This record gives sequence, structure tokens and C-alpha cells, in this order.
Amino acid sequence: MTPGEALAAECARYTAMGWMRGTSGNLSVVVDRDPLRLAVTVSGKDKGELAPDDVVLVDAEGNTDDPVRVPSAEAALHGRIAAVSGAGAVVHVHALAPVVAAEHWPGGVELRDLEMLKGFGRYAHDDVVVVPVVPNNQDMKVLGDAFEEGFRPDVPALLVARHGVYVWGDDLYQARHRLECLEWLLRFKVETSRR
Ligand SMILES: [Zn+2]
Repeated sequence: MTPGEALAAECARYTAMGWMRGTSGNLSVVVDRDPLRLAVTVSGKDKGELAPDDVVLVDAEGNTDDPVRVPSAEAALHGRIAAVSGAGAVVHVHALAPVVAAEHWPGGVELRDLEMLKGFGRYAHDDVVVVPVVPNNQDMKVLGDAFEEGFRPDVPALLVARHGVYVWGDDLYQARHRLECLEWLLRFKVETSRR
């Protein structure tokens, strides 16, 4: 499967989950590590209808020399996350639960004692996971700096307040499973915190 085929298939899946409404969200895979190059979904297309060539190659700063395709505006943050974390794939969706959780806990969302934490690469007991939250910003340099400041190698996710969630992994498959489990965890946290 080419990177474009894999990204289109993942986007269709996330769209079906209701996590990529409108043209929101973007996914990337690392195609070269030195220098860093990523295949990232193009800007402005319905993510449920992407074709395999609706991807564009960008460098670590999100820049491309593609004469036609426009990368996602958030490509630079994908590059930053891949560079800092060593991830092979980064997924970003506008699911609701992560945004509601970030609204409730702007200092970071604490998760513990939940079986589903195992799907996030952590333990179901005696483990505390704090998912960092950063304020939204249209400047990817500002977002990237905020991400790096709160980065922990054992927490492969970032919540952007009033915006969405980033999750990463060795490949799209691992990133998908982490995202699915994290979305469940955050939904649980929000639902059980209601008064
Ligand atoms: Zn977004």
C-alpha cells in the first residue's frame, strides 16, 4: 500500500467515526527520516472522499515543493511531532470528547485505573497518565513550542483546546489504536465528571 492509499483509508475510517467532519483533521506518515519527510493529507478536501494522490510530501517545517497540491495548514505541527517523538505516523482529528476534556482540564487531563489505558500503551492499574493540553493557535511554531515544552515520551498524544487531538505511533495502525482508546478514555472521563 502506498502512503496515499494508507492515508485515504485511515481518513475514511475516521470520517465514519464522526471525527473528521467537514474537511477537518489531517494525517501523516514519515516516508524519510534523514532528512525528515512526511506524506500528509492535502488541505480542504472531504476526508471521507480522499484519493490516493490527495497527499503531499513535506519537510519537517511543513514546506513542500509540490507545484499543485497544498498541504494541510497543520503539516508543520505533524513535522514537529514526528521529529521530537520519533513517531512514524501522526493523526489529528476533531473528535468532540478530547475538546470537551481539554475544556474541563486545561492544565492536563489525568487518567488512571482504566482497562483501556492498556490500549494507550500504559497500565490499567497503579499508573497515572496526564495528557497535556495546549491553547489553540493558528501559528504552528507557537503550537509546536507548546507541544515540545510538555512532551513526555510515554504520552503519545496532545490535546489542543477548543480544536482537537493529536496522537502518534510507530505507524498508522498503532496511532489508530491509540487514538481509538484515548477517545474512549476521554469520553469516559467527561461523562463520569458530570454533576
Ligand atoms: Zn485541526
